[in-house]
Amino acid sequence: MFDNLSDKLDKAFHILKGHGKITEVNVADTLKEVRRALLDADVNFKIAKDFTAKVKDKAIGQDVLTTLQPGQLLVKLVKDELTELMGGDVAGVNLSGNPTVILMSGLQGSGKTTFSGKLANFLKTKKNKKPLLVACDIYRPAAINQLHVVGDQIGVEVYSEPENKNPVEIAQNAIKHAKANGFNVVIVDTAGRLAVDQEMMDEIARVHKAIQPQETLFVVDSMTGQDAVNTAKAFNDILNFDGVILTKLDGDTRGGAALSIKSIVNKPIKFVGTGEKMEAIDVFYPERMAERILGMGDVVSLVERAQEQFDEEEARKLQKKIAKNEFGFDDFLTQIQQVKKMGNMKDLVGMIPGASKAMKDVEIEDDAFKHIEAIIYSMTPAERSKPALIDVKRKARIAKGSGTKVEQVNQLMKQFDQMSKMMKMMQGPGGKNLMKMMGG
Ligand code: GDP
Repeated sequence: MFDNLSDKLDKAFHILKGHGKITEVNVADTLKEVRRALLDADVNFKIAKDFTAKVKDKAIGQDVLTTLQPGQLLVKLVKDELTELMGGDVAGVNLSGNPTVILMSGLQGSGKTTFSGKLANFLKTKKNKKPLLVACDIYRPAAINQLHVVGDQIGVEVYSEPENKNPVEIAQNAIKHAKANGFNVVIVDTAGRLAVDQEMMDEIARVHKAIQPQETLFVVDSMTGQDAVNTAKAFNDILNFDGVILTKLDGDTRGGAALSIKSIVNKPIKFVGTGEKMEAIDVFYPERMAERILGMGDVVSLVERAQEQFDEEEARKLQKKIAKNEFGFDDFLTQIQQVKKMGNMKDLVGMIPGASKAMKDVEIEDDAFKHIEAIIYSMTPAERSKPALIDVKRKARIAKGSGTKVEQVNQLMKQFDQMSKMMKMMQGPGGKNLMKMMGG
């Protein structure tokens, strides 16, 4: 996420690190580099210029040069300004209606349908809501089907009227259906076009007026940079929407959209999409994002994700197994699967302070556990629970079966052995506290 920008900002601050005494010239040079980094990230020229001007003012105001660690203070000022640029505080969704009506807007391909599903899933699993998805795209039958597929996947009902060519009527009927059937959130997915056109704008404006949504969300593909900002402006002029959803933040985006959109339309980014799966949705926290951009990591989100996946029952079972020396490769697989649920590896590494910089030249596969899993799946169930059964011949067979090398099998078995020993130690006297600390 925003790797290039992080890299360039890091280089900008390097200017300060090379000098024994920091001067006004060094600070000015650093800020020039910060501005260049923002421009390279596809941030609008005026925004980038204002940004550095503001940081400079604050630096002068706080007498940066006379402080103990001017470099660190400047990084903090940049972090604060980045946070401000992306919206300052976190913005929630207004769920006060009964039912709450949420209207989704945006261009075709922006990720509107996918996000509608993600939001429904989020509200259902995290906020205990009963959402109804509504297909209002009357032009593309495939779009209606797509929403039904998404709905099936997450177990959320989808309302559609394939024969009806009036999106206003469909949306109104859907709300009636929701009221009659106890749905408390109605998410209306609308038709998008490839580019902004009058007909589409008129149509969504009519739907908007008729259903008076509590939340109108604008979905935009973050990979489109400056274009995203222009589209946002066009939609905001018509709809005066409440918030922005930035999708495809997992891609190779430069960050321009995330950094510019708030100052152009003055609406907060509420959620981001970070993948094609239904779970790939994150509430947008401007400060956490600023910290990630500056390579400070995002430990709070990392811990939150770990807590979400933590299953007390499983942990207790595991502890018992370790105590009885029964921890096997199957348990190891379960552990890997839990970590995988937290998100893809690249994303997780980005949340560890300093790690993305340290590992920037290391190729991290999305599925970093692929080989390990393949090796374990190639073992027999007996071998998984009793690894000592695996002899030289079997190792060669397992390597062949999993498409790996014998060295990889050896390495995994060695790691597993060390891990088992460590777990055993933690069970011993003095180890109890350690286990507690780790949530066991
Ligand atoms: P719509 O036309 O606006 O409804 O867009 P879709 O929801 O059909 O999404 C268009 C494409 O983008 C699909 O292939 C989605 O799988 C993909 N997509 C949507 N959101 C994300 C995301 O956050 N990350 C990635 N990588 N792909 C996404």
